[in-house]
Amino acid sequence: MDGATQLVGVIGWPIEHSLSPAMHNAVLEELGLNWCYVPLLVRPTAVAEAIRGVTALGFRGINVTVPHKQAVMGELDEIAPGAAAVGAVNTVVIDGDAGGTHLAGHNTDVPGFITSLRARGYKPAPDDRAVVVGAGGAARAVVYALLTAGIGEVVILNRTLERAQRLIVDLTVIGTGTGRLKALPLQPAALVAVSQEAQLLVNATTVGMWPSVADSIWPADVPLPGGLVVYDLVYNPLETRLLRQARCSGAQPLDGLDMLARQGALALALWLEEALDVDGATALMRDVCERALGSRA
Ligand code: NAP
Repeated sequence: MDGATQLVGVIGWPIEHSLSPAMHNAVLEELGLNWCYVPLLVRPTAVAEAIRGVTALGFRGINVTVPHKQAVMGELDEIAPGAAAVGAVNTVVIDGDAGGTHLAGHNTDVPGFITSLRARGYKPAPDDRAVVVGAGGAARAVVYALLTAGIGEVVILNRTLERAQRLIVDLTVIGTGTGRLKALPLQPAALVAVSQEAQLLVNATTVGMWPSVADSIWPADVPLPGGLVVYDLVYNPLETRLLRQARCSGAQPLDGLDMLARQGALALALWLEEALDVDGATALMRDVCERALGSRA
C-alpha cells in the first residue's frame, strides 16, 4: 500500500467471518490494481458516522452487510430502483469527483441471483412457478429478481406468514411485472404440494446453515420432484441437506456460493471505472471462497 492506494471495504457487525475481503482482494490483485478491500466492524448505532468516515477518507465504495443493509439507506444521496424495491442496499458507490461527494446505493444480490440462475441453465418463463421459502432480506431480492425476469407465479412460504404477506404488499405497491404472488405459512405438506407444479424451489432461509447442517426445509423421506431446479442460498456448507435431498431425487441442485461471488463481482464492476470481466471475476471469487470455506471446515 502507498499514498495512491484506492480503498473499498465492507461494513458489518460482526465482520470477522466475512469472505468479501479475501475474494475482492484476489480479483484486485489479479487485475494488478493498487486497490485494497478492508473489513470494517461498525456498531449498529454508528452507521451514519461510518458512512461519513469512509467518505471523508476517500473510499471509492463499500459493501454493506448484516445488520446495516436497511439503516444505510438513510445516509445516501440516491438509491437505485432494485435496491429501493427490495428495501436493502448492499453496495455503495462513493463519487468524490462530482463537485462534492455523491453516494449511490445498489443491491447486487438481485442481479447476482438472477444471472447466477441463468448462467446455470434456468431461465424464468411466464408459465413457470417458483416456490420461495423465506421472507427476509434475501427472499425479497430473490422474489423481486424473479418477477422482473418475467416469471409467471411466485409462491412464498414463511414461518411467519405476516412477513411473507408484507413482502407481497410492498412489491405490489411498486409494481414489478405481471407475475402472480401468493403467501402461505411454511408447513411441510404445503411445501411439497406447491412444489409439484413448480419449476424452481429457492431456500432463502437460514435453515441448513452451519452449524445446523442436519436441518432442511424439505421433509425427510419425501422425494423432490425430479425436474425441479433447487437453489439453496445457504453456501456454508456448500452442499446443504436440501441440496443432497435434491441430488438424490434427481432434481437439479444449485448452491449459494455462485450468487455470493456474482454479487461481489457486480459490486466491483460498479466501483471500477474500467470494464470488468464479471464472469471471470465471479469464477475467481468463487474459487477463493471455496478454499476459505474448506479450510474453515
Ligand atoms: P433474514 O432477513 O434474517 O431472514 C431469515 C429467514 O429465515 C426468514 O424468512 C426466517 O423466517 C427464516 N428462518 C429462520 N430460521 C428458521 C427456521 N428455524 N425455520 C423456518 N424458517 C426460518 O436473513 P437473510 O438475509 O434473508 O438470509 C437468509 C439466508 O440467505 C441466510 O442463510 C444467508 O446466509 C443467505 N444469503 C445468501 C446469499 C448469497 O449470496 N448466497 C445472499 C444473501 C443471503 P421468519 O420470518 O419466520 O423469522
